[in-house]
Amino acid sequence: MTMDKYRRGELLNALSAAAYAGRIDRRTFLDALLKAGMTVAAAVAWANEAAAASANQARRRAALHAHYDYIIVGGGTAGCVLANRLSADPSVSVLVIEAGPGNLDQPRITDPFLWATNIGSDLDWRRVTVPQDRLDNRSVSLPGGRVVGGSSSINATMWLRGDERDYGVWAEAGGPSWGFAALQRTFKQIESYRGPGGPARGRHGPIPVGRPPAQHVLSPLLIQAAEEIGLRHIELNERRRLDGTGYVDENVNAEGRRVGAAQAYLQPALARPNLTLLTQAEAVGLLLARKRCRGVTTVHDSHRREFGAARDVVLCAGAFGTPKLLLLSGIGPADELRRVGIHCRQNLSAVGQNLHDHVLLGGLHFPTSRELPPPIANGIPTVAYLRTNPPREPPNVQLVTAHFAFASTVYDVREAYVVWPAVMKPTSRGRVRLAGLDPRAPLWIDPNYLETIADRTALREGLAWALEVGNARALSGWRRGVLRPRDFAPDGLEAFIRQRASTYFHYVGTCAFGRDPEHSVVDARDLQVWGVDGLRIADASVIPEIPSVNTHVPVLIVAEQAAKLIVGTRQHAAAAG
Ligand SMILES: Cc1cc2nc3c(=O)[nH]c(=O)nc-3n(C[C@H](O)[C@H](O)[C@H](O)COP(=O)(O)OP(=O)(O)OC[C@H]3O[C@@H](n4cnc5c(N)ncnc54)[C@H](O)[C@@H]3O)c2cc1C
Repeated sequence: MTMDKYRRGELLNALSAAAYAGRIDRRTFLDALLKAGMTVAAAVAWANEAAAASANQARRRAALHAHYDYIIVGGGTAGCVLANRLSADPSVSVLVIEAGPGNLDQPRITDPFLWATNIGSDLDWRRVTVPQDRLDNRSVSLPGGRVVGGSSSINATMWLRGDERDYGVWAEAGGPSWGFAALQRTFKQIESYRGPGGPARGRHGPIPVGRPPAQHVLSPLLIQAAEEIGLRHIELNERRRLDGTGYVDENVNAEGRRVGAAQAYLQPALARPNLTLLTQAEAVGLLLARKRCRGVTTVHDSHRREFGAARDVVLCAGAFGTPKLLLLSGIGPADELRRVGIHCRQNLSAVGQNLHDHVLLGGLHFPTSRELPPPIANGIPTVAYLRTNPPREPPNVQLVTAHFAFASTVYDVREAYVVWPAVMKPTSRGRVRLAGLDPRAPLWIDPNYLETIADRTALREGLAWALEVGNARALSGWRRGVLRPRDFAPDGLEAFIRQRASTYFHYVGTCAFGRDPEHSVVDARDLQVWGVDGLRIADASVIPEIPSVNTHVPVLIVAEQAAKLIVGTRQHAAAAG
């Protein structure tokens, strides 16, 4: 990709986000689009839509209603999908409540290479775990997007669907509508794939997906390196099974700029008169009347304010935000609620349980004999899958590569490459609890990383495979010698794992869907919280078991399914009534 094209894409993305947010006017945006070489018709249409969106949202925010048909809590990945799908019916009103800001026009969001600079920033919730027994009692930082688009605005844009066996487990937990066969149409619906691709790929979805037009010199060598240890080269998003190595797709546009849930789903809906986006408003409680959720209490500009929901409140606050709101509202394990002094409104023992995450082992950098070419795109070209688990399950080890010295304190960006192992089907389970009554107090989060022998074995074997791939012959023309364990793990590999294992940022499962209130939080048939009418959950927290891939696509799938279920319920009720 030429630098000019890159800069043009960056500029257009930033200008577009500024125009939708009303920070630049229609004329300025239009002039910039024309200068960037857009046709007059396309530029006018885009500028008009952005101007209408910002004017509409300014009007809506100035005249907030007491009641909406639907309230979506969390304008993140899932929330943006729901906002678009539910407000597509002009006869219903939709309010989105998002704790973070709406300023997407910043390079750290639009440029996928800068994703990691958001970690620890003002766009991150900056949550941490309690000290982890198996990780030398370290607390682990758990980044999560606190901004419109949520984690999909700050993630690394890796786009992976998963293995059919991942969704077989979902179907066991929730019925056939959560199985791979049923979800396949939705996988296609959400993407607009630019590559050659086969019939499995979608061509008309809201999210543009592709690979960088130019390949980094290391990318094919990393594929060859995995082939040397016996893996075959596959198209990761076209095969039903992840049994090999392949290039990673990214959710970016043709200019290489991020298109996450906010840009793809929310922005095109912001001009609708029935959709209101309220940013920097934090939901702090649910309004419950008997066994029905009637609305949400928020804090906005330091003021408490209640909003009523005539139909549903849909929680999309993520795997930590959603269980926290339930617990604060008295929905959760009765003994746990009693412990913090909250009156139990609905005893659901599974709230906050079943927390799990992929475990990533960083710190393994392979120094090069000469400076690498500059990184391209997000710098993450390939992954490879291996297993220490039985073949009836999806492979439980991923090796993720970077053609630059990601997160190194020793090497400059172009002085090393990375092959890192991750546990993708963890068997350890943790939980979250309230630390107290104050909604602003951080959650008590214990992912219980590497508690099981199976997970520790997977990471140890993964580390051995990562060394084999990183040291493979294919890469010898670039590598400086062979990397031996003592070069990076002087205290031994077990100690290295304890010192370096961390999150892969894929927290799920804290409000899992299922078939009964003993073992799950929401009914898999309609994503309604057991025993509470008018309250649904549609984000990463409902995932009963984590897929063997990075979780952006799986969450989009959950949200699309949720939208269909909610719209289906409405149509059913209309037909009946
Ligand atoms: C740093 C990072 C990198 C990642 N990289 C990748 C990747 O490359 N590929 C991939 O597939 N996956 C990746 N992921 C994972 C993926 O992005 C997430 O699993 C997914 O986006 C989660 O979606 P969600 O809707 O459940 O939550 P989120 O997208 O996090 O949305 C939750 C939203 O709710 C808001 N919120 C929370 N509490 C409240 C409240 N009380 N009131 C109002 N609003 C609230 C938050 O601000 C946020 O906007 C990454 C995640 C992170 C954090």
